[in-house]
Amino acid sequence: HIEPFEKIFYVRYRLDGALYKSMSLPLQIKNAIISRIKIMANLNIAERRVPQDGRIKLKLGKTKSIDFRVSVLPTLWGESIVMRILNPESLMLDFKKLGFSEDTLKKFNKAIERPQGMIVITGPTGSGKTNTLYSAINKLNDPSVKILTAEDPVEFNFAGINQVLVRNEVGMTYAAALKAFLRQDPEIILVGETRDMETAEICIKAAMTGHLVFTTLHTNDTPSTIGRLIDIGIPSYLVSAAVNLILAQRLLRRICTNCKEPVATLDKEELIEIGFPENEIASLQGKIMHGKGCPKCNGTGYKGRVGVYEVMEITEAVQKAIVSHVPEDHLRKIAIKEGMITLRMDALNKVREGISTIEQVIENTVMAKEALPAYLLNPDELTFENGDLIIKEGNTDKNFYQLLQGQLIISKNEKVISEITQPGEYFGEMSALTNEPRSATVRAKGKSIVKVFPGEKLKETIENYPDISLRIIHSLIRRINETDRRLTQ
Ligand SMILES: [Zn+2]
Repeated sequence: HIEPFEKIFYVRYRLDGALYKSMSLPLQIKNAIISRIKIMANLNIAERRVPQDGRIKLKLGKTKSIDFRVSVLPTLWGESIVMRILNPESLMLDFKKLGFSEDTLKKFNKAIERPQGMIVITGPTGSGKTNTLYSAINKLNDPSVKILTAEDPVEFNFAGINQVLVRNEVGMTYAAALKAFLRQDPEIILVGETRDMETAEICIKAAMTGHLVFTTLHTNDTPSTIGRLIDIGIPSYLVSAAVNLILAQRLLRRICTNCKEPVATLDKEELIEIGFPENEIASLQGKIMHGKGCPKCNGTGYKGRVGVYEVMEITEAVQKAIVSHVPEDHLRKIAIKEGMITLRMDALNKVREGISTIEQVIENTVMAKEALPAYLLNPDELTFENGDLIIKEGNTDKNFYQLLQGQLIISKNEKVISEITQPGEYFGEMSALTNEPRSATVRAKGKSIVKVFPGEKLKETIENYPDISLRIIHSLIRRINETDRRLTQ
């Protein structure tokens, strides 16, 4: 980071995620340095008003070279330059060294060895997603499979893999690249990032027609990734059918091995608060470590980083939950029951093993939200045959419902006013909200299954569970629109 300010000219560098000040240079050499870097990166040195991006290939000796990605940003006091080192030797392709536990690695390998399906890797920028993707691709790379990647930027080159640079300005979007890929007869496709409906749709289609598809999303954890795909516009049944596995990840700083020592006094309450079981606390004394700081780690107590991972396998139970649109925390609970280790749980393991610190756990992961109450978690499910009455106009019962499977017809005075066809849609909530008798009749159209929720809990549900409230509102709006459409026909 080479940054000009009014009276100083700074050089800073980022190591393991943290910025360090390296030197202050004399202001007089500012223009010379900036111009030199811009020339090396093939940028226009006469242009100082707009941001520019370039690349420097620096030869070290006869065989070695290192790439720098260069970004130039015009600021108030001159152009600020950030260079990112793309050193292939710093790419770590060994899953064990990346922090994968044996169990996580087994699940991940199982998913990437399947002939088709989608593997989604998720996490914020700088959480090591690219490294994980490259490790997977590197493991699968052999002459008997054709691998195509669409990336922005292409950070590392692999022998035998067709890597395509995405360039939106010339129309080479992720979606455009993907469409072309499908005509190139590949076994494995990597899509750098999925942000829009079109890209997501083609990914899903490819994953269901004999291709293994890798991609990344910017979501916080595995359950919210399912929600994001559905929000983008992919129907839940396709998400559940196409996705093999979702991996969420974060990077924690590693304790410096040179100055590592046990934490002398542990805060028992804090340990319980961050998720250690109460009966384990006594045994943690002497196991929980930190770095006291030494010359090897610049006095920080940390050196290098380690990944923590949350792996959601799309098992049959998880598939069923996705299709019936359960709320995120319910989905998380089901996945945990199926063996998922959450990011927080994996981070706590890194503390147990003395690899990272309590501070890093708190900084980089969150506790899963409180579980749902029983009436939301395990509601009764009722099955109705064609024509069966679910709600009768004029009655004063107050329960509300969610459609799981099938279709329903809403009528008023024997006249059909709307239909409910989307699994996940709520209905019957109006009486509980207004305390008035049922305003319409709901019957099953064909065999239908619905969940029943207690009407007296509706207010509490709306107040405490925003994602359910939103779905109820969406259901209401859709029904109003549908009735409106029928009235104006
Ligand atoms: Zn140290």
